[in-house]
Amino acid sequence: MNTTRRSKARAAVFHTPGKPLELCEFALPVLQAGEALVEITCSTICGSDLHTIRGDRPVAGPTVLGHEMIGRIAELSASGSKLCDVAETPLEIGDRVTWSVAASCGKCFFCDHGLPQKCEQLFKYGHETTNRSALSGGLAKFCHLIRGTAIVKVPDSLSDHVACPANCATATVAAAVRTAGGCQDQTVVIHGAGMLGLTTAAMAATQGAASVIVSDLSEQRLVRARDFGATNTVDVREDPSALSEATRDVTSGRGVDLIFEMSGAPFAIEQSIELLRVGGQLVLVGSVFPTRAAQMLPEQIVRKLLRIDGVHNYTPANLTAAIDFLIKASNTYPFESLVDVEFTLEDVNDGVDALAAKDAVRAAVRPQVGHTRRV
Ligand SMILES: [Zn+2]
Ligand SMILES: [Zn+2]
Repeated sequence: MNTTRRSKARAAVFHTPGKPLELCEFALPVLQAGEALVEITCSTICGSDLHTIRGDRPVAGPTVLGHEMIGRIAELSASGSKLCDVAETPLEIGDRVTWSVAASCGKCFFCDHGLPQKCEQLFKYGHETTNRSALSGGLAKFCHLIRGTAIVKVPDSLSDHVACPANCATATVAAAVRTAGGCQDQTVVIHGAGMLGLTTAAMAATQGAASVIVSDLSEQRLVRARDFGATNTVDVREDPSALSEATRDVTSGRGVDLIFEMSGAPFAIEQSIELLRVGGQLVLVGSVFPTRAAQMLPEQIVRKLLRIDGVHNYTPANLTAAIDFLIKASNTYPFESLVDVEFTLEDVNDGVDALAAKDAVRAAVRPQVGHTRRV
């Protein structure tokens, strides 16, 4: 780590949908109380970054994308009290850390009511820019952590590739599983075998789920799901009713206890009402983009005593749970294999293309490598 104070850092900037990211230099911010500067060692490009680049998710440019990242503390604010991680341990220069995608104010109505993830002043890394620095995304050499960011130390035993998605998919799944009250002895259906679905399968299996039934439109993804704890996989591309048959078989016709909807497909939500047993629970996570309305019969929800929850963003406790889970589960489940391509910051657009071509679940970018070419 270079601890001499630099004045500028390079970042890959999103300007407008359909255009390649552009490498630009930005001044490093002067830190205020409660802030830190992190030297980013690795970022992973996520499906939602692709949504932004394609124009499916509105993000105003110029913005530095990338919200799944890990790095080492390069600088801590000299003013105010010493900055601590979520466990209240003081942070030091060189600490390896991840941090919550969203920073919260700690004072508004929602922060006050146990919903910091929906803070009125919520700031999301990799989605927007502060008025103090453009360096707020993972596709950059440094990231400026503002006050109200939950920071969690990451042990060296977790590789960069495994740890990067912790503050996106893993923490979101930890929030979803917590909302469900855990998975022990539950018959679980998971719609979607992307990063969220695979992580959910592994977490459900780790918690002792009775069955983990994963559905997807891709046979290749379903094969992977088997490595992540799925006991049954169902390809619903040609015959969506195959999932109903599978759940009937597994539950002797009673219906499943718990469903995690990670795909965002309205059909999967509609089908979930049928698949659940009386008193079952549906946790909606994947619906983070506009779709047609899902149609369901309210009478069925009432008569079956169903519970439906939405999960969006997560709390600092969920991020801690995510790191704890990865420490325990990364030897059992092949999380490392989900990041199978790596790029430098200069080649970031190749990483975007590789992810778009679905060659990888995640594409990694190492901002500190291969930066000799001038831009
Ligand atoms: Zn993400
Ligand atoms: Zn707030």
